[in-house]
Amino acid sequence: VKVCEIYRSIQGEGLDIGRPTTFVRLSGCNLKCTFCDTKYAWTEFKEMTPEEVASEVYKLGCRNICITGGEPLLQDLTELLDRLRHRRVTIETNGTIWADYDVDLWTVSPKLSNSGQLQHARPDIVGRFAREKRNVQLKFVVNDEKDILEAMRFCERAGVPARVPIVFQPNNALFKGQTWRADYVKKLGELAEVVQKIRRPNVRLLPQLHVLIWGKVRRR
Ligand code: SF4
Repeated sequence: VKVCEIYRSIQGEGLDIGRPTTFVRLSGCNLKCTFCDTKYAWTEFKEMTPEEVASEVYKLGCRNICITGGEPLLQDLTELLDRLRHRRVTIETNGTIWADYDVDLWTVSPKLSNSGQLQHARPDIVGRFAREKRNVQLKFVVNDEKDILEAMRFCERAGVPARVPIVFQPNNALFKGQTWRADYVKKLGELAEVVQKIRRPNVRLLPQLHVLIWGKVRRR
């Protein structure tokens, strides 16, 4: 398996926000999102056997494991998942590649026009994850109201059932300079007004907690 990094932190995003988690960041991605905050994972890697990955994960001692990237579904995860079956495992994917693995939570993060990668979006695959996986959340990176409305149209087109949680988080690439934390919180306030107008029941606005705590630093 091509591994970019393995580290322990808290889950900063989505429904597991705040949970102590070990991250297994796999290398390689089939997209090139403008706002990508893990571009180093496109190319940096160390080749490890599934056994070596599992052993490093077990050493870190955390019950929750998040397999992320890059795009983890570019690689065959069968053996790695088998070795991690006694842990609670989440896979984070951009929703352009279908996979049949059985994990505890799927986080599907489809890309909107603000990513510059809309041409690669696969509403058919996102819809299939949403309908067929027993535990799945959709996560959208948004700049503004326009993006939130685009995400809602995307979910409709993809046939995402109302029971599936949809999480919006601000695009952290927008925030630079000394006042970035205050600007981030202000943006959350703006987006909160928009999210309250959505009639769908299962929507949430969440910050990236790790970014708010530590800033945009690697392995946090
Ligand atoms: S899909 Fe994720 S890892 Fe790949 S370029 Fe986009 S944000 Fe980065």
